[in-house]
Amino acid sequence: MTLTKIAPQNLRTPGPTPIPDDIVEEMSLPMINHRGPEFKELIEATTEGLKQVFMTTDDLYILTASGTGALEAAVVNTLSPGDRVIACTAGAFGDRFVQIADTYGADVLRMDFEWGDAIDPEAIRAELQKDPSIKAVLVTHNETSTGVTHDLESIARVVKGEFDKLLLVDAVSSLGCLPLPVDGWDCDLVATGSQKGFMIPPGLAFISISARGWEAYQDAKMPKFYFDLMAAERSLVRGQTPWTPNVALLYGLRLGLDRILGEGLESVYDRHAEIGEYTRAGVKALGLTLLANDEARASNTVTAIKMPEEIDGGRFMAMMREEEGVVLAGGQGKLTGHCFRIGHLGWVNKSDIAEVLEALGRVLPKVGFKG
Ligand SMILES: *Cc1c(COP(=O)(O)O)cnc(C)c1O
Repeated sequence: MTLTKIAPQNLRTPGPTPIPDDIVEEMSLPMINHRGPEFKELIEATTEGLKQVFMTTDDLYILTASGTGALEAAVVNTLSPGDRVIACTAGAFGDRFVQIADTYGADVLRMDFEWGDAIDPEAIRAELQKDPSIKAVLVTHNETSTGVTHDLESIARVVKGEFDKLLLVDAVSSLGCLPLPVDGWDCDLVATGSQKGFMIPPGLAFISISARGWEAYQDAKMPKFYFDLMAAERSLVRGQTPWTPNVALLYGLRLGLDRILGEGLESVYDRHAEIGEYTRAGVKALGLTLLANDEARASNTVTAIKMPEEIDGGRFMAMMREEEGVVLAGGQGKLTGHCFRIGHLGWVNKSDIAEVLEALGRVLPKVGFKG
């Protein structure tokens, strides 16, 4: 089979993200027995490293799946069909969490917020006050489709602090990039994926579960097999996973975690904040408009930008890719065709974004942008 050779590119999708060379190399180490001693060392080291990045002493499991697998795991391990839950959505990923809970038969009270807005903790409080039968609240930390970071700290204060409900968090495009102290904010299940903040390819998902989460597990009757966290627990105590894991990605993960912890979580957060700010300032200076309605809640891992009405979005994205080697992400769900996104998470520095801004400055006038 022959495929078009992959040209060097500035990959600015909000996952997958570029991979440092040493990690690429590490992932080609010889295969090992996943029931052997080398694997035990690998899974134990990476699980411990992840707990540091999650800032938790809760149990944590590495699943061979994309981020969505961990979201599904959060739902099926804690809920039963008919359980009343709140699922907040302000974008495509919020919608996905709703869909998962719905698919497995939860009685979902869907709370919709405008795409581009942040989820309002007061609105969640009002619903929790109205309906004491609510068992859990499902929330996205960083809505990748709109480039908005929700105020998870305040949401958690309401859900956990005031009402003591289960809190299930989609942290796929935030964990390891934006501050999310899982224990500090008392989040019960927190799910993320390898291809966002961890500088490795897609294929692994990580999930933490609190003691409260395990209590919910005892009563949870949704069907589960591959994503049964008790199976993961029984294997992990022996230094294994229940099913054959993606060993090569675990090699990479070990180095990715070394990089994150070596840089220090605080400076990783600062770097993302600085680059987020730099990106927003740059696109605004070009005359573009952010999709986030309140810039104070704009994401530091992905910037979503309204597609100017006068330009052909498809042609613009193709020119960015073909002429400039910059790969942008399009809009998702109902934003398809109406926005484009610049990912700036994981292995990213200011010069990667400077290149994007310069390329935008060259391509936008060619497609008739009037800004
Ligand atoms: C990327 C992403 C996901 C998961 O997507 P996968 O394709 O399954 O890895 C879920 N939620 C958010 C917020 C994301 O950014």
